[in-house]
Amino acid sequence: MAHVLIVNGLDHAFLREFGCRCNRCLNPKVANTSVSLVSLDDNDDPLYHLLFDVGMGVVDSLVESPCLSGDKARLDWLILSHWHPDHVLGLNRLCETWKRTLRRRGKPWQPISTWCRNGTAEWLRKNHDYEWNCFLDPQLSGEIHPPGIRLAPIQLGIGDLKVTPITVSHRTADMHPKTREKLYCCASFVIEIGSKKAVLLWDIDNKNGWIKDPLSYEQEEAVKLLSGADYLFIDCNTWSVEAVNGQNTGHTSFSTVQDYVRAFSPRLY
Ligand SMILES: [Zn+2]
Ligand SMILES: [Zn+2]
Repeated sequence: MAHVLIVNGLDHAFLREFGCRCNRCLNPKVANTSVSLVSLDDNDDPLYHLLFDVGMGVVDSLVESPCLSGDKARLDWLILSHWHPDHVLGLNRLCETWKRTLRRRGKPWQPISTWCRNGTAEWLRKNHDYEWNCFLDPQLSGEIHPPGIRLAPIQLGIGDLKVTPITVSHRTADMHPKTREKLYCCASFVIEIGSKKAVLLWDIDNKNGWIKDPLSYEQEEAVKLLSGADYLFIDCNTWSVEAVNGQNTGHTSFSTVQDYVRAFSPRLY
């Protein structure tokens, strides 16, 4: 069995906007940040497909993905890092088209197993109640922990594949949808298969000091799990600016990312 990580998109939060003439918006081949983990059998047919985030353009990427196009399409889990539109705007299209595909195949509809944190669930119930109620089978984290906590592995039920969420700070998303009070909503993911490890660490801000200086046993354990990855996906939005008009952007700069990545050096453990 082989396992592949496919980047479905890594583009900016704002793209393909109605009424915008910028180069990004005029390019039909863009998609928001999203990754598929696909396990393949000896004939290169997919055995499992875990989809991490489903923003704009992601369904187009899946339709064209060599591992998942046409009859190869399957979807076992949807795993959401957080509720921001560029991570969930493709929900409706994914759900509606997957339902049509199952009907075409003569297969019964099954709600899509979907993992997210409780804070993100609050937002999805508010902003995407149709998809939430009609298509998804939510498997919630059951917590509202601060950043730097290793959560219980997602109950995938897929062989030796293990996905462990770790809470992260991403302040533009860390709030309650109604009261706007602080509510931690965001997760990164450590994927382990046998001795291989991949880390998906996106949409984090510069308030994740626990990565450089863990202050508790829990934070030390989280950094340890994030360390020594064979594949590390980490993002930044700017070279050095992290505040605009006095407001934190909610994203790291390249220099902060460098600091974080140094902390993940396998030499430390
Ligand atoms: Zn634009
Ligand atoms: Zn975000």
